[in-house]
Amino acid sequence: MGGLSRRGNREEGPGAATDKGLRVARFGGAFPTVNAATSSRFQESSTTPFPGHKAYEEHYPDKYKTKRSERVRRPVIAGNWKMYKTIAEAVDFVAKVKPLVAAAAHCEIIVAPPFTALRAVAEAVKGSNIAVAAQDVHWDKEGAHTGDVSPAMLREAGCTHVIIGHSERRHDHGESDEQVNKKAKAALAAGLIPIICVGETLDEREAGRTEEVLKRQFQRGFAGLTPPDFSRIIVAYEPVWAIGTGRTATPEMAAESHRYFRGLVRGQLGEGVAATLRILYGGSVKPDNVGGLMAQEEIDGALVGGASLKPDSLSALVNYPRA
Ligand code: PEP
Repeated sequence: MGGLSRRGNREEGPGAATDKGLRVARFGGAFPTVNAATSSRFQESSTTPFPGHKAYEEHYPDKYKTKRSERVRRPVIAGNWKMYKTIAEAVDFVAKVKPLVAAAAHCEIIVAPPFTALRAVAEAVKGSNIAVAAQDVHWDKEGAHTGDVSPAMLREAGCTHVIIGHSERRHDHGESDEQVNKKAKAALAAGLIPIICVGETLDEREAGRTEEVLKRQFQRGFAGLTPPDFSRIIVAYEPVWAIGTGRTATPEMAAESHRYFRGLVRGQLGEGVAATLRILYGGSVKPDNVGGLMAQEEIDGALVGGASLKPDSLSALVNYPRA
């Protein structure tokens, strides 16, 4: 483990799902078969097609909606640009990457620019198969929160998705599971698709506490979320020790954690919900290791930092080797 970053530790450095109970919907995703005796919120949204978002519906051109994925859960390749790229650089990136990924109908593609470039990138991706995510959101609609941005502001800027609870937010800004939960609920209420990050630090893994940490993050960060909420949410399992370190979890290690997390969802919300939840892996994913990760049935895509910053590299990730 020598030389690894221990971010998240205040040190320096950067259930097997089955197809049971599913029916395939028009995006290649699936509806969970849920017990109708759920909340009125569910009653309201149960008729909405997967992924069930107006923003999603508005964004994706028809040719990218109708394809049925070979996989039960439609894969997602998401690029987290962190604090990289000016507006001009971001727009230039989009112009270059669009033709490279235009034929990719097997997965959803998301880029998450810094706040300042969101609007320009949302304009630049119009009519393409690329969606835009913000990297954070506040849970309030408005208020005295210097530096924060509300869910409605993100929608107005053209976002369909938002990353919530990234380990860099948790570490740099002391973000708690409870805040993650509030942000997720606010994002969902505003029609955004939250990409909620979970994952253990190096110390936690070495102490054999990975499952305990994931359980805590699930119980607190996902508290009160309903089956229809889960049909929209994307989870990103990102072991903190693998983010920006060049060290990736092996596909088997990642799949084991995904299985455990899916098992938590199954235990609380049932098989239908667990089987449709998309869980991405994040942590030093690169064009040369993405194929191995995506070969795992449990891994539904990747949240990628460094390797998403170059058009060729993002395109290679999107066009990962498929059997
Ligand atoms: C991330 O930013 O979520 C991430 C996984 O970064 P990297 O791919 O650079 O490790």
